[in-house]
Amino acid sequence: MSIYDHIELHQGDITRLEVDAIVNAANSSLLGGGGVDGAIHRGAGPQLLAECRTLGGCPTGEAKATGGYDLPARWVVHTVGPIWKGGHKNEAALLASCYRNSLTRAAELGATTIAFPAISTGVYRYPKEDAANIALTEIVAFLERPSSIAKVYLVCFDAESLEVYRKELASRTDTT
Ligand code: ADP
Repeated sequence: MSIYDHIELHQGDITRLEVDAIVNAANSSLLGGGGVDGAIHRGAGPQLLAECRTLGGCPTGEAKATGGYDLPARWVVHTVGPIWKGGHKNEAALLASCYRNSLTRAAELGATTIAFPAISTGVYRYPKEDAANIALTEIVAFLERPSSIAKVYLVCFDAESLEVYRKELASRTDTT
């Protein structure tokens, strides 16, 4: 059994997934936005925004959990990805800490299944290949240590983003 057996790619809407936790690519206010953030708030209903208002925002790279309310997911882990500014503003370390901290929050809650969108690759414009590489590196490192997390879904809205993950996964599993 390979560590990669615990990672699954999925094309579709993350808000439809019946997993313990879905990760939201939020902005630092945690008060909603466009993209996946808007979809999660629409799916969860107004109680999610009410809980988010009590959290006092979230710094880039960190993560905070809430309930999932009307979503099939029990929890939402809100993380704030870096805005891509060319690569010399600590973007890679910040994106890595988004994945690490989101997994840590979910494991603290006892989640066994978690789904991630491609954090920062939408309006924050992080290059998709680099973002996929960081996501997989952090997820594999986390899965190598004992925790409640048994399955990590990488969810892409579009086929092109999914293909980026597929290539990144293939390049890793071919050599091991
Ligand atoms: P960011 O501000 O972190 O870049 P975005 O929401 O703009 O966040 O985009 C992050 C990624 O999530 C993009 O690849 C986008 O296509 C994808 N996305 C948008 N809506 C959904 C959804 N409902 N389910 C899964 N992925 C989504």
